[in-house]
Amino acid sequence: MTQAQHAERSVGTASPEYDAIIVGAGFGGLRAIHSLRDRLGLSVKVLDNGPEVGGTWFWNRYPGARTDTEAWSYCMYFDEDLYKEWAWSEKFPTRDEMRRYLNFVADRHDMKRSIEFNRTVETAEWDEDDRLWRVTTDDGGVYTATYFVPASGFVGTPMALPFPGLDRFRGEWYMSARWPEEPVDYVGKRVAVVGTGATGVQLVPTVSRTADHLTVFQRTPNYVLPARNFTIDPDWSAELRESRQKFYDLCSNQTWGFPLENSEDFFENCSADEIHRILDRAWETGGFGFVFTGLGDAFYNDDAARVTQQFVHEKIRSIVHDERTAALLTPTDHRLGAKRPPMGHDYYQAFNRDNVSLVSVKDNPISEITESGIKLADGDEYEFDIIIFALGFEAVTGSLCAMDIRGRNGASLRERWKSTPASLLGICVDDFPNLLMPHGPLSVGGNVPLVLDISISWIENAIRYMRENGIETIEADPAALDEYRRASAEVVKPTVLWQDGQSTSSWFTRTNVEGAEPSAIFYFGGVGPWVEKLKEEEAHAYKSFVLRGAQ
Ligand code: NAP
Repeated sequence: MTQAQHAERSVGTASPEYDAIIVGAGFGGLRAIHSLRDRLGLSVKVLDNGPEVGGTWFWNRYPGARTDTEAWSYCMYFDEDLYKEWAWSEKFPTRDEMRRYLNFVADRHDMKRSIEFNRTVETAEWDEDDRLWRVTTDDGGVYTATYFVPASGFVGTPMALPFPGLDRFRGEWYMSARWPEEPVDYVGKRVAVVGTGATGVQLVPTVSRTADHLTVFQRTPNYVLPARNFTIDPDWSAELRESRQKFYDLCSNQTWGFPLENSEDFFENCSADEIHRILDRAWETGGFGFVFTGLGDAFYNDDAARVTQQFVHEKIRSIVHDERTAALLTPTDHRLGAKRPPMGHDYYQAFNRDNVSLVSVKDNPISEITESGIKLADGDEYEFDIIIFALGFEAVTGSLCAMDIRGRNGASLRERWKSTPASLLGICVDDFPNLLMPHGPLSVGGNVPLVLDISISWIENAIRYMRENGIETIEADPAALDEYRRASAEVVKPTVLWQDGQSTSSWFTRTNVEGAEPSAIFYFGGVGPWVEKLKEEEAHAYKSFVLRGAQ
């Protein structure tokens, strides 16, 4: 059917063309096809702005891109056979392996027939008379559906570049989240990487191997934890592939949904020697293991946070040879946890190379891009052939607000979320009937594919309940949403995430977004308590939601 025919058939008719429109064909969108189309039997249409499945994993193809969460838990859980069949090659698979994996998932479950690629959703508007969502795309398409399920990715829309003068630059420049498909050649080139979050930290060691010289522009130093990646041998792979339920249970019981046991070692109960041993062991565990298998109270006990911070400071000093560089790389203005820690693949070691240098732009910011490179506020200039920007994202709300989503009486989601974005359990908002977000603001903070698996199963159950009980619409009860917002604020208040996250730039607290009021973007009370809240709603006829039957 042509787009024009779509429009003709949809606009002004009382019955929707589809049961559900899903935005995004990444982890969330694919998982939603399974729940809504294959389990509930709904007619679904997925709209994705990319040319193939993958979402965030399609777009983020910068050099060095790989997962920061163990492959065996950063995956789809919904199909035991699928889990058994895919043999991960590494603990932290590369972006190319993730791309192959998500294509494998989509092919195995015949998902691609439900997806229209290269369609950017521009608007989604609730029609109260016809009780449907009307969704428009950049190519003039109009689609209607009962349920609107934006699974647009929590890091789907990169930050706009804030530096003047880019159009003058005579070299090449790239944004990490919009990397070209053709390989970029750094051999013999002077390269700049701007930004040292999880993305920049993956770029630096990779680019440093071939660039003539790499200059890293760092604003806030991070706690870069050693990833300790390894390849997976066939024997262990066979064992892993039989362990879906084990890992699902392990992750569901871990505060942030990772395949780790929560530490039961607390500052007060340990001697200084024991603390050092615990932190050393956690450092060797690698990845998020340092955070979660170190001191169990590192996020809310000042002493535990202090010794953890000092431990990482010592590690940086012991790895980085040049004292001045080590000092610049050492985070002193916030404690571990206030920002999402990146995983390093010999990140600090890269600064020992002769062809890598570090420039702090903390007190001397980038003022402009010139014809030949980067100029700082004090007038210092650096010349480059290639500049790479890895400036991050407006997490969660960025990709949702890139669409103009309108609820009842034209209510705008962008306006609603201007000060402190929130949605009930990360799923629903009042005045936006049948807007079902797999990962909205105040969804739980943690391992994203696991969180999506849980939230989309909940959405599936809610729709099933509605259809079995003659209910047409669901939305948040405003009082319940206010209460959930309050509870989410309370739970994060005593933690480092909030205490330091208000004053340092962090997407956890939206302080990385120019002009935004600090507010936690996730519910940081843990996966377990969040799942309990979801189950309570299922057990009590969705008491915190407003359900309306046919009129
Ligand atoms: P990010 O963590 O927000 O880092 C952005 C970086 O850009 C920061 O170092 C920031 O400095 C810097 N920056 C921003 N504006 C700047 C400016 N005007 N001048 C100089 N520097 C500036 O973003 P990200 O690295 O893309 O990571 C975002 C999230 O995506 C991660 O935390 C993670 O959840 C996800 N991610 C995951 C993976 C993975 O799992 N493998 C990989 C990459 C990303 P400040 O710190 O001072 O703001």
